[in-house]
Amino acid sequence: MESFTILGRVGEGAHGVVFKAKHVQVRGNGEVVALKKIHLKKIDDGIPNNILREIKTLQAITEHENIVRLFDVFPDGSSLVLAFEYMVTDLSEILRSSQNTLPEVSSYYMIMLLRGISFCHENHIIHRDLKPANLLISSSGQLKLADFGLARVMSVENERLYSHQVATRWYRAPELLYGSRTYDEGVDLWYLGCIFAELINKSPLFPGDSDIKQLGCVLSILGTPTTSTWPGLIELPDYNKITFSGFLPIPFESIVPDATSEVGKIK
Ligand code: ADP
Ligand code: MG
Repeated sequence: MESFTILGRVGEGAHGVVFKAKHVQVRGNGEVVALKKIHLKKIDDGIPNNILREIKTLQAITEHENIVRLFDVFPDGSSLVLAFEYMVTDLSEILRSSQNTLPEVSSYYMIMLLRGISFCHENHIIHRDLKPANLLISSSGQLKLADFGLARVMSVENERLYSHQVATRWYRAPELLYGSRTYDEGVDLWYLGCIFAELINKSPLFPGDSDIKQLGCVLSILGTPTTSTWPGLIELPDYNKITFSGFLPIPFESIVPDATSEVGKIK
């Protein structure tokens, strides 16, 4: 940490504090970076899985222009520090601060988001926690995926079970809400749709206020699924525990009224 001057605190997440800092150099301007400092509770327990995941997945894919760059990882006392390229804001901040609706810029953000996700999936990585606060924006307006603490490398063997306790509630895909443990990169596409609607409407699409109500919130908008709209539905672990019958789907044009009609045709 001695080689950095801390310029301020830019974020606080579940696992640590993020600082804006400048690299101290003998000559010239030091590079501005973001330092994510993660306190390791018990040093003897080793580095927690989620931190290792974040480092390992980022090292595999950090070269892409829509993935945040990880420059370095180093210990600092009983903490571990991840040095990232500094990003001026994130999409949740943009949503909060902009007065107008965002249809114009939304398509640019969506393209960058799609490129980032597509690169992850080509590299067999599921992000599993996409949401506006984890989509960082650079000074030149580039969107980059960040926070790979829940990311997973997809297994080539089909038998592997994943945890369904992932993702921030409002962005959690319905198969996760039904307890699926064999899901795939489709969960990232679900987040993508949620983020798209949020950009257009400027409010979250499925703001469920508890885990139980989240599925009801989703189905009240998209309609109760059937085995023809969702083959394999009844085999999901929690299908019999949670039932919401009789919801009819709301037309796409009413869900995101400001989106162009072409968007509704993309299936
Ligand atoms: P957590 O897993 O704790 O949510 P994140 O990686 O999402 O950690 O970081 C928390 C917050 O810190 C982000 O939402 C963002 O506001 C800020 N942040 C993270 N990385 C950077 C970065 N590279 N540049 C600027 N701010 C960042
Ligand atoms: Mg985060």
